[in-house]
Amino acid sequence: MDSDSVGRLRKRQPLFWPNPNRRPVAACRDVLDRHAAGVVAARARFARFAPLLADLFPELASTGGVIGSALTPIPGLAGMVRDPDGSPVVAPGSLFLKADHALPVAGSVKARGGVHAVLRVAERLALAAGLLDAPDDDHRALGEPAAREFFARHRISVGSTGNLGLSIGVMGRALGFAVDVHMSREARAWKKARLKRVGARVVEHAGDYSAACAVARAEASGRTDTHFIDDENSLDLFYGYAVAAGELAGQLAAAGIDISQERPLFLYLPCGVGGAPGGIALGARLGFGDAARIFFVEPVMAPCLLWGMASGRHEGADVAELGLTLATEADGLAVGRPSRFVGRLMEPLLDGCLTVSDMGLFRYLAALHAAHGIEVEPSAAAGPAGMEVLFADPAGWEFVRKRGGDPAAHVVWATGGRLVPAKEHAAYRAGAARMAREKGEG
Ligand SMILES: *Cc1c(COP(=O)(O)O)cnc(C)c1O
Repeated sequence: MDSDSVGRLRKRQPLFWPNPNRRPVAACRDVLDRHAAGVVAARARFARFAPLLADLFPELASTGGVIGSALTPIPGLAGMVRDPDGSPVVAPGSLFLKADHALPVAGSVKARGGVHAVLRVAERLALAAGLLDAPDDDHRALGEPAAREFFARHRISVGSTGNLGLSIGVMGRALGFAVDVHMSREARAWKKARLKRVGARVVEHAGDYSAACAVARAEASGRTDTHFIDDENSLDLFYGYAVAAGELAGQLAAAGIDISQERPLFLYLPCGVGGAPGGIALGARLGFGDAARIFFVEPVMAPCLLWGMASGRHEGADVAELGLTLATEADGLAVGRPSRFVGRLMEPLLDGCLTVSDMGLFRYLAALHAAHGIEVEPSAAAGPAGMEVLFADPAGWEFVRKRGGDPAAHVVWATGGRLVPAKEHAAYRAGAARMAREKGEG
């Protein structure tokens, strides 16, 4: 990374970092082949558990236990995205929101990765204990009292900024597991309260996300009855997220949108530790090949995946080296050190990283509500805010002109919000209005 870009990271200025190691599919077949089976297995696992999930969660009855989200047109936001000359550049009909903010069970993208990780633990234990004789047995047996008593003797533990804990807690408790959630200082009070209500043990930490994970990992180590779900290092989480790309492909096809090299798909994925956007990116390169242009979006205060990839030091890199404090309203993205494997895996797959200010997040949080009545949490507004930066930043604009083709669709991934209390949503919008006023006056 050149010193000018490092300077902009230090100054907390939004920017685009093009990934110099991105390769065409033909040149990264090895990576894709190594992981394709994991994604297929995750999809099959969700299908095996679907009847049980439909029994456990009334909100899943109508989909037969399938956890999925809509692809929603958001033409009202297209006019906000401008090229460096100030001209609008996104065709309104090409702009969509992947509505994972409204996912059932967990109200965030963690309803994919987090739920899958819990199902994986449950299935493995059930097979070993003879509660299931074979993977294809009817998984509704795992909702029976004998299985619940068995799961109750096991503990699932996790470190989280909030939403992962919520998904693991809700899913784990629904099966009868004991659940410990180690919450970093960013975690919102309502998330902790909700977890306590479902019977999870919430351990509050004064430190950041990496510190909360470290405690959870240490407590679980050496204990056969405790299953630590390691957000910094879990392929089970990752493959659970990856399944989403197949869902998106079906939705784009159903909308009559053909994705090709010349008419590519642009994907904007909010990024914390990297698992969710990494999994979705893997799934997208498996499904769309070279027709997917994929961007991770991080807060200017916590660009951990960007810094890990750009420095080549991955999990050894820490945004504190840039004088950044993780102070952002995007609590789900307030991570200083990236995953131990996602950055490396993304090297040939990812087009680049974008950083966004809290001001940018809040403008799009407010615009989604004003134009479309959609309520998301600040982290989930990173997608559209990052899209704006891609087109406005000179390096981003150059990328678009040289490598962008004529985009058939822009999909911003909304990652959380459904369970946020109405009062908190109103406070977010009030904050957005305040920021806009202050900017106007200043
Ligand atoms: C978890 C989360 C992300 C990012 O996922 P990572 O796996 O941490 O990169 C983005 N937005 C929201 C709302 C989240 O909860």
